[in-house]
Amino acid sequence: MAEYKGVMIYGEVTEGKLIAITTELLGCGRRLADDLGQELYAVLVGSNISSLAQEAIAFGADKVYVVDDPLLKDYQTDSYVLALEKVVRQVMPQILILGQTSIGRDLTPRLAFRLDTAASMDCIELAIDPDSKLMLQTRPVYGGNAQAIYTCESNPQIATVRAKTMAPLERDASRQGEVITIEAGLDPSAIKAKVLEKVVEEVTGIKLEDAEVVVSGGRGIGSVDGFKQLEELAKMLNGAVGASRPPCDNDWVPDSLQVGLTGKIVTPELYIAVALSGSSQHMSGCSGSKNIVAINKDPEANIFKVAHFGVVGDWKKLIPAFTEKVKELLAG
Ligand SMILES: Cc1cc2nc3c(=O)[nH]c(=O)nc-3n(C[C@H](O)[C@H](O)[C@H](O)COP(=O)(O)OP(=O)(O)OC[C@H]3O[C@@H](n4cnc5c(N)ncnc54)[C@H](O)[C@@H]3O)c2cc1C
Repeated sequence: MAEYKGVMIYGEVTEGKLIAITTELLGCGRRLADDLGQELYAVLVGSNISSLAQEAIAFGADKVYVVDDPLLKDYQTDSYVLALEKVVRQVMPQILILGQTSIGRDLTPRLAFRLDTAASMDCIELAIDPDSKLMLQTRPVYGGNAQAIYTCESNPQIATVRAKTMAPLERDASRQGEVITIEAGLDPSAIKAKVLEKVVEEVTGIKLEDAEVVVSGGRGIGSVDGFKQLEELAKMLNGAVGASRPPCDNDWVPDSLQVGLTGKIVTPELYIAVALSGSSQHMSGCSGSKNIVAINKDPEANIFKVAHFGVVGDWKKLIPAFTEKVKELLAG
């Protein structure tokens, strides 16, 4: 009987490029494959994407499986699940890793169900257990207040990984690998959903998920004008503005800025939480930040339990003073 072997990552492609999470998964996959003494595979699915296989090799893959078909031009659940399932059944990797992106969130449970296995979503660390050789899958639980480590005894062991929690390898164009084409063999009638229109979200400045600095405001900011002050600070720090749910519900900022359980997950170097209490639903979207700085007038606010640095006070006094100081430091 064929054996499950190797580590496979699903490489997402946007606008003819591997997206950042793909290189991060390649870095993580490389480490796991080396620990197992096995190969690292990447699978690329789309239309006109074959030229990206070499890029996946440069970032660490030993073999790249390419499923290139005009029917896969736009992401559609039906077609992509079928294409990935076909590759996984053919290659039989022991481990399959996807990004915790909207596509990864959509594909992973469906794939796990079809392959009769389990999946851990939103992992922040993956490792190989030296004794059992199973993948140790660490993910936040209880709204980010604790971490749990899972293993899965059925193959493939599937996990999604949160953006910016894994380091990509240095790109090495001299790396050698093998590119294998797999026919999608799709029946167009199997694709039940059609993409009618794409609306690109307008973003001025840095995207929240990509920002190294996020200045997030909560209910205590109180108005659209209050958020303008946070924007000024974020811009100066080359960062982006985020928010807890109340400012979005109150239309002070667009919904796309919401951080948390039902919003975006961010992992910046610096997360400045201003006038937000630090509810578990909010923290599940930012607890992976490297440094959390809290500004809140209530010394008992929960945010101070999770923040690395905290200032008790009124943001209306603190933010202008802080912004002035940053301005001064940047100038000189
Ligand atoms: C299913 C579900 C999903 C949810 N998903 C999310 C989510 O994704 N993201 C999210 O954020 N929430 C989410 N929520 C809502 C969440 O439970 C909280 O209600 C919300 O996060 C609270 O937002 P906040 O901290 O801004 O407001 P509050 O809890 O009201 O806190 C406001 C804080 O501002 C401080 N403050 C007020 N004025 C000042 C001032 N002048 N200077 C300094 N500090 C001041 C106060 O001391 C207080 O701590 C969800 C809830 C549910 C039930």
